[in-house]
Amino acid sequence: MFYRETWAEIQLDALGRNIDRLRLSSGKEIFAVIKANGYGHGDDYIARKAMEHGVKMLAVSSMDEALALRKKHINAPILSLGFVHPRDAHEAAINDVRCTVTSLEWIEQASILPHENLIVHIKVDTGMNRIGVKSLAEVNDILTICDTAGITVEGIFTHFSSSDVQDNLLTQQQYDKFVEILSGTQREFKWIHCANSDATVHFYENVCNAVRCGLAMYGYSSYKTSLEPVMTLFTKIIHVNQVHPDETVSYGATYSPKETEWIATIPIGYADGWNRKHQGDNAFVGNSACEFVGRICMDQSMIRLDKYYPVGTVVELLGDHCPLIPMANRLDTIPYEVLTQLSDRIPKVYIENNRVVGSINPRLASYH
Ligand SMILES: *Cc1c(COP(=O)(O)O)cnc(C)c1O
Repeated sequence: MFYRETWAEIQLDALGRNIDRLRLSSGKEIFAVIKANGYGHGDDYIARKAMEHGVKMLAVSSMDEALALRKKHINAPILSLGFVHPRDAHEAAINDVRCTVTSLEWIEQASILPHENLIVHIKVDTGMNRIGVKSLAEVNDILTICDTAGITVEGIFTHFSSSDVQDNLLTQQQYDKFVEILSGTQREFKWIHCANSDATVHFYENVCNAVRCGLAMYGYSSYKTSLEPVMTLFTKIIHVNQVHPDETVSYGATYSPKETEWIATIPIGYADGWNRKHQGDNAFVGNSACEFVGRICMDQSMIRLDKYYPVGTVVELLGDHCPLIPMANRLDTIPYEVLTQLSDRIPKVYIENNRVVGSINPRLASYH
């Protein structure tokens, strides 16, 4: 339930089709990356649909995100791609959360504590210089410690820094380094994974058996694909002003029309993650692009209409007429940032088979 008329629609069937496409085109199993509340799409609905479509792992960024899923009764295997403090490894094991071994030091510390049922994936740093170990010697030491301590090494992986770059040169170098270390271990791993979304659709390799897809699952790639966007964002006109050339619009009086115009007010602002750089960009009403004029406010924004529309008219903010990637480019950022910045003040409506199957409004989570 929600009262403020701004909402995101999440097309779960599109998510399912994207997962099926990614599995078919890569020939690999899918790890569904649902960190950051499923890239702003809502972690539990996305997790459930992804599981229905046969993903083998849910990947998050922290214990907090993993436990949030467990609290919502998601029982699929979960991997924390990000750092879990070694003192929390036991807690992770109890909750069936796989941890990433980020360094030799990490496993040394984690292995001191009770480690029953601890499952880990070893992160190899092949060029990101973010987290992970860099040498075969370190990987072998980690394997020895795990063997001694009874810790299950279920997987090994790396992460590419530049999979969005067309020529794949850096990706190939990182991959070669990974393969060298992998073969040096002379071990079998249940899961070997390198690719994020862009590498999944643009970098061929045959050593891994899984791919970690985030953005592509939600419908976006740096490359041309048949993926479908999962989220659309709408609001409704809540007020209409006729504004004359001697008047101005919004804070700082930065906009003044050249001739008399219809200006609509819509309930979305920077506190919703609709940041101030949207000034000058377009929303879509009726059959027309409508510019955001004047400063974006915290809770509201103004758009210039091509003609009068009544209060209650639906306004598209993100969707077929307002596609995300060009929007992110204009905002000087990337689609990841636009999606994850959408705040939980925006309720989400979930659609399956053209029917509303649920909704989330965290503001009223305990209100009936
Ligand atoms: C976020 C993340 C991914 C997913 O990246 P996409 O580009 O969204 O597919 C994969 N691997 C790691 C280590 C990540 O942190």
